[in-house]
Amino acid sequence: MRIQLHQSDLSSQEICWQSWIMTRGMAFDMWDVKESVAPGIKAITGTATHKAIERFYGDKMVGKELPPGEAKEIAEAAFREALDRGYYISEEDTPEEQDIIADGMTRAEKFTAMYIKSFGNIIVPEAVEQDFVIMLDESEFGFDLTGRIDLIDAMGILHDSKTSGATPPKHAARTYQSALYAEAFKLQYGKYPEHISYDYVYFPSAKSSEPKADQRMTEVDDLLINPFYARLKQFEAIRKACVSGALNPLYAAPPPDRIFSWKCTKKHCPLWNKCEFWSGRAK
Ligand code: SF4
Repeated sequence: MRIQLHQSDLSSQEICWQSWIMTRGMAFDMWDVKESVAPGIKAITGTATHKAIERFYGDKMVGKELPPGEAKEIAEAAFREALDRGYYISEEDTPEEQDIIADGMTRAEKFTAMYIKSFGNIIVPEAVEQDFVIMLDESEFGFDLTGRIDLIDAMGILHDSKTSGATPPKHAARTYQSALYAEAFKLQYGKYPEHISYDYVYFPSAKSSEPKADQRMTEVDDLLINPFYARLKQFEAIRKACVSGALNPLYAAPPPDRIFSWKCTKKHCPLWNKCEFWSGRAK
């Protein structure tokens, strides 16, 4: 089987290239060691919410209606299971660990309830949780693409559920990930989807006690698709240069906001003490 670039690789590379190299570079023959990093509470909150939403639509597909109380229990159980697998919490946050965990679980429950209340009755699922593999031209790329589409509705709109700790920007759905989804949709249905919708539940700020819900939608056009292929070609050029030894992978594509990134702190990055690029900030 050829190497597979997953949809999450594209966003991880953008958040921090160095972190991606240390955790995923080995799979692409670009790095010798694979660092294992446990997810933070924020990521676990998102995963638990997603699990409950997945079950909600899975039931809907077979004509069942998952009661909101049960959906919240599914989120809670998924949260606990993820915690049991291991999580990252910074030294500084350790004294408040139990409060942070309790807050994360409450958020997962509130996200789930808000999602079902806001979108549960307006989105009619046609297909849910569809895995895909896109085989790229072997003469051009040394890898294929893979991922999973959350949901396609009865109107042919492709949906991705999102959780966030901030109000999503207006053009939040104009991403490489959307272009990848559009290509996966085309592979199966022979055309691009009319729209891609990121269905957000989010807390507008750290002080907000209740979440909100909003959709961020994009059309599929050349300005979405072409930069995606340019990015894949750029990545393949970098990958080949790293594999041949011509480039040091850690320096190959530093993201411009590396030093000021929210993630580049002890609080959010488990690799801070192994990384020469750490910002030096605790929070
Ligand atoms: S410390 Fe900063 S630059 Fe290094 S892997 Fe973490 S987020 Fe990336």
